[in-house]
Amino acid sequence: MQGDTATLTRTVNVILLGPPGAGKGTQAELLVKNHGLLQLSTGDMLREAKASGSELGQRVAEVMERGELVTDDIVIGLIKEKLSNADAKGFIFDGFPRTLAQADALGQLLEEFDIKLDAAIELKVDDKILVQRILHRAEQAKAAGQPVRADDNEETLVQRLEAYHAQTAPLIAYYEGKGVLKSVDAMGAIDTIAKELSAIVS
Ligand code: AMP
Repeated sequence: MQGDTATLTRTVNVILLGPPGAGKGTQAELLVKNHGLLQLSTGDMLREAKASGSELGQRVAEVMERGELVTDDIVIGLIKEKLSNADAKGFIFDGFPRTLAQADALGQLLEEFDIKLDAAIELKVDDKILVQRILHRAEQAKAAGQPVRADDNEETLVQRLEAYHAQTAPLIAYYEGKGVLKSVDAMGAIDTIAKELSAIVS
């Protein structure tokens, strides 16, 4: 992606908001690559805990497999720990916050660590294509001999979408009220969306 790599003159901190399958992870990885930001994905942290068989991992495994949200305290604790130990050009919060309580807690943490939130970027995608995208992701992983996420199946996806609409979608109005919301059409090609995000971050 030539031309998209920009040297940031100051730190940039963004939240990626959007339903499962909107491309948050993919776009976060591109922002890491192109702008040197640090991706903080609570989903990845929880999957790591699960894979390690830690006590936390065992506690969250079933909730994740049902497609429900783990408790606010757990994810807020994970983010707090990362922010305490990280030194980066900026952060991409990927999949966090997912509830209003998490958003309030993040606001307090950012104040505590003297970090300015530049934008909450909403990736907008129709529910109809999300199911297709996620099932496709699972098929691709399987074909490549990679492990398939335990929650990438149609049944769990319905629950994940419900959780998104009930608990996470209200964050769009929350960040709009704070004057930091940016909405991006995330139905198109990965590269096109990445360019829009790069422009916001730069
Ligand atoms: P993700 O990889 O972001 O799709 O997250 C996978 C699963 O991890 C979600 O369906 C939830 O069960 C859990 N999870 C990830 N992030 C959060 C969060 N911020 N709050 C609650 N649960 C979360």
